Amino acid sequence: MMRLPKFDYRVPREIAEAVKIMAGSGPEGQFVAGGTDLYPNMKRRQQTPRTVISVMRVPELNKVTGDGKSGIRIGASVTLTDIVEHPLINRDYPVVAHAARTISTPILRNMGTIGGNLLLDTRCNYYDQNYEWRKGINFCLKKDGDVCWVAPGSSKCWAVQSSDLVPVMVAIGAKFRLASTLGERMIDAAGFYNDDGIDYLKKRPDELLVDIHLPPLNGWRASYQKLRRRGAFDFPVLGVAAWIQVDDTNIRTGGGPGSPRGLPAWGGGSDLIKNARIVLGGIAPSPLNIAEAGQALIGHPLDNDHIQAAAEAAYVKARPLDNTDFVMNWRKQMTRQYTLRALRELATPNS
Ligand SMILES: Cc1cc2nc3c(=O)[nH]c(=O)nc-3n(C[C@H](O)[C@H](O)[C@H](O)COP(=O)(O)OP(=O)(O)OC[C@H]3O[C@@H](n4cnc5c(N)ncnc54)[C@H](O)[C@@H]3O)c2cc1C
Ligand code: SF4
Repeated sequence: MMRLPKFDYRVPREIAEAVKIMAGSGPEGQFVAGGTDLYPNMKRRQQTPRTVISVMRVPELNKVTGDGKSGIRIGASVTLTDIVEHPLINRDYPVVAHAARTISTPILRNMGTIGGNLLLDTRCNYYDQNYEWRKGINFCLKKDGDVCWVAPGSSKCWAVQSSDLVPVMVAIGAKFRLASTLGERMIDAAGFYNDDGIDYLKKRPDELLVDIHLPPLNGWRASYQKLRRRGAFDFPVLGVAAWIQVDDTNIRTGGGPGSPRGLPAWGGGSDLIKNARIVLGGIAPSPLNIAEAGQALIGHPLDNDHIQAAAEAAYVKARPLDNTDFVMNWRKQMTRQYTLRALRELATPNS
């Protein structure tokens, strides 16, 4: 049986207290929320903090405020179950509720949080193993070793960003609020992830993720499609988040029954797309915004020809590696199919 190493456990009740404890703990400190990622990592000795600081009892991190018109703020410690079941998130940001629903299992979603998901460690077949297994291959660059077994000539780690919510947050243009004893700062989800499996976040270890700001709904819609081996639960080995914003001089007005959010109704394939993003997760150390796929849609209606062009652009740029489940060439092929699915979902009026 794998056991946790010994550690001090602290439970602050305020942001100021949490960041102060972290500052005092130095590199030996680490925040924990639901622990569904951190504790297994600690059992495998991938991360061995001496002080573990829970963020679950800080009231400001447990709130959801706002609505689709003003934008929503979701506290970092809100559980995935609460996101899946939240009426306002379901009504105004169904893509966020949907992506959260695809994460792990109901029991893990009761513990796991949105913050922990957005800060999830990167994954690799040579890393997500117990200590003895990793010792058997003399470890690897990401922890305790000096070779990358996926790309032995590489000085970089290619472990994969494997969160379902990350590509969605990048696609919809979310922002994250971080706090430390030095103050607060906001950072765009799009600029938050590094293309490096070891140093995968633009967050200092002493910074606390406070909340996630979802942008107001101003003519945009988004969808998420996930490839995994088992439908019941599994990490994504490809995730496609599609986001489009229609030209609002062109969208039908009125809301009502045609618009479950009470916002302008979507006119389906006839509206011209003003802006678009296709973001891939699960195939590289960071989420990938495929600019060519977005460009293939801008200025056009969301019809079959333009959907096909965007899917082709996503396929061309996708370069999965051989360090997660499924054969990498097949995962590349699937990029086309899953982008088609994500965009076809958006082309269906009021889906
Ligand atoms: C069997 C299994 C299946 C899974 N399947 C999926 C899946 O399909 N998709 C998926 O995306 N994930 C999956 N996960 C991973 C995990 O359960 C989720 O990503 C979950 O949302 C992590 O949240 P948490 O609160 O448990 O994170 P924690 O383990 O508490 O924390 C994760 C990381 O975030 C840091 N952290 C947490 N909160 C903060 C904060 N507020 N400020 C600063 N740092 C913080 C921690 O220090 C740690 O580094 C799975 C896990 C398991 C065990
Ligand atoms: S990509 Fe290479 S360095 Fe990174 S975890 Fe995998 S084997 Fe280790």
